[in-house]
Amino acid sequence: MSPRRIGVMGGTFDPVHHGHLVAASEVQSRFGLDEVIFVPTGQPWQKSDRVVTRAEDRYLMTVIATASNPVFSVSRVDIDRDGHTYTVDTLRDLHLQYPDDELFFITGADALEQILSWRNAAELFELAHFIGVTRPGYHLDDHHLPSGKVSLVEITAMAISSTACRERAAAGEPVWYLVPDGVVRYIDKRSLYRGLERS
Ligand code: ATP
Ligand code: MG
Repeated sequence: MSPRRIGVMGGTFDPVHHGHLVAASEVQSRFGLDEVIFVPTGQPWQKSDRVVTRAEDRYLMTVIATASNPVFSVSRVDIDRDGHTYTVDTLRDLHLQYPDDELFFITGADALEQILSWRNAAELFELAHFIGVTRPGYHLDDHHLPSGKVSLVEITAMAISSTACRERAAAGEPVWYLVPDGVVRYIDKRSLYRGLERS
C-alpha cells in the first residue's frame, strides 16, 4: 500500500474557528491529503498571560467542529501527554502511530518562523513536511527556509482569531458564524470565556 498523506493541524483551539477549518480544508485539497488530524495542545498553565481553557473542553469543541468532515479527525496525543506541548513530541508520537505514512505539519506562517529557530529544527524536518499558511495581512520572509521542506500557501483565510472569539464571547457579543454552530452552543453550555478581561 502506498503511504498515506496525513496533515497535522496543531493549535490551542481555544476555541476552534472557521479560519482553522478553512485553512485545513484548503491545504487538504491543494496537497491531496488523505486525512487531516487536528491536535489540540496540552494544558499549559498559561499561554503568554492568560489562562487557557481546560484541554477536555478544547478537545470536545474540536471534535464537534470537525465531526461532519470525513477526512478530518482529532488526536489526543498532546492533551494526554503531561506538560507543555512541543511540536517535536507531537510529530514523534504521530510518526510512531503512522510509521509508513507521510506527515504534513500545517501551521500559521507566524508560528513557522519560530519553529525554524528551534534547536531541534533538523529533526522536525525529518519527521514532516511543513506547510505554512499565511493569514490575512501577514508576509513571511522566506529567504532562510530550508528548500524542499517547507511550502507556503496563501489562503483567502478569514480574519478570525481565537482571541477575537474569546473577547466577543466575554463581552456578550455573538460568535455565530465565526465558529461552527455546535461550538457556539458548547461555549454557551459550559459558560466558557465569561468574565475574561479584554487584552
Ligand atoms: P489565538 O488568537 O489564541 O492565538 P489562533 O486563532 O491563532 O488563537 P491557534 O489555536 O493559536 O488559533 O492556531 C492554530 C493554528 O491555526 C496556528 O498555526 C495559526 O497560525 C493557524 N490559524 C489561526 N487562525 C487562522 C486563520 N484565520 N487563517 C489561517 N490560519 C489560522
Ligand atoms: Mg495564535
